[in-house]
Amino acid sequence: MSKVHNFCAGPCLLPDEVYRGAAEAVIDFNGSGLSILSISHRSKEFIAVLEEAQHLALSLLGLEGKGYSALFLQGGASMEFLRVPYNLMKTKAGYIDTGNWSSKAIAQAQAFGEVNVLASSKDRKYAYIPEGIVIPRGLDYVHYTSNNTIYGTQYRDVPQADCPIVCDMSSDIYSRVYDCDKIDLIYAGAQKNIGPAGLSVVLVRDSILGKSGRVLPQMMDYAEHIDKGSLYHTANVFAIYTSLLNLRWLDRLGGVEAIEKINNQKARTLYRAIDDLDYVVGLADVEYRSKMNVTFDFKEEQMKGIFDTMCAEANITNIKGHRVAGGYRASLYNALTQESVDALVGVLHEMKSKI
Ligand code: PMP
Repeated sequence: MSKVHNFCAGPCLLPDEVYRGAAEAVIDFNGSGLSILSISHRSKEFIAVLEEAQHLALSLLGLEGKGYSALFLQGGASMEFLRVPYNLMKTKAGYIDTGNWSSKAIAQAQAFGEVNVLASSKDRKYAYIPEGIVIPRGLDYVHYTSNNTIYGTQYRDVPQADCPIVCDMSSDIYSRVYDCDKIDLIYAGAQKNIGPAGLSVVLVRDSILGKSGRVLPQMMDYAEHIDKGSLYHTANVFAIYTSLLNLRWLDRLGGVEAIEKINNQKARTLYRAIDDLDYVVGLADVEYRSKMNVTFDFKEEQMKGIFDTMCAEANITNIKGHRVAGGYRASLYNALTQESVDALVGVLHEMKSKI
């Protein structure tokens, strides 16, 4: 079968060698004669997997040895919308609203205290990242979303504040060089640049915990999960192992420095086509364009039908925009190859002859 170019926003594609490694481990994990699906999460073999995954999760972002813990938890990023205020909110927190996922995080935090929405780009369909925000003193933390998966915008820098900074990095973690040590708590749903869905990775500076004054349910308590080494309850063994294979792949490639160059090239290729072709429009403001999720549309309605048909013929799939945003979205996560971007750009150019 010829190659399928999968631009899915998540769960997204992973490198072929990760699929192969995961498939092999389902049959026989490390020559043990046992399936990865059937080993104890407390076995020494799995503890070794977890420890290596925790080490890579931190070291790939330059956070190892800097007072952070790495957690592999269940519930996806949406669970962290809750765990963050549970653990960090005393009375009030600041949130920056740059899209649907930020809004959902805000809605969850409102149950725990006063949420100060410091800025929002909702007025222009989340096409930009608000700048020049004045962050008041005395907040328990500031929360932002580094990459807006749905509308295709991305932060270049880390916002500054005199309180802990929390970042939902679900859709651009491990994709670029970024000042992660300016962030006190990073969380991400695994299903983009980490591994299979159903897992969240939390990288937290230990010193910010234990200050909320709240009695926490144990499942919600980051300190409890740190104390138990992500084994408070049955861990998602298969997802963690597959994530380890993916983190190893990135490490061998040369880490975030190496993947950033590849990701920059992919994004450049696609945005150039969007800008060069007068029948295509980019949906995000140029200076805030995401290198992970490229959103675009066509000026004429009839072009969508042509594009859809040509994509199907070229084995290009999962390119429709999110249901709340409309248009199209090409997700260029780490495992997506330049070859796939070139196939998409080829279609965008060839459409000209069909108009
Ligand atoms: N935050 C961001 C930025 C996302 O892109 C997503 C999912 N695409 C989520 C949060 C929610 O993640 P989950 O489905 O794992 O709860």
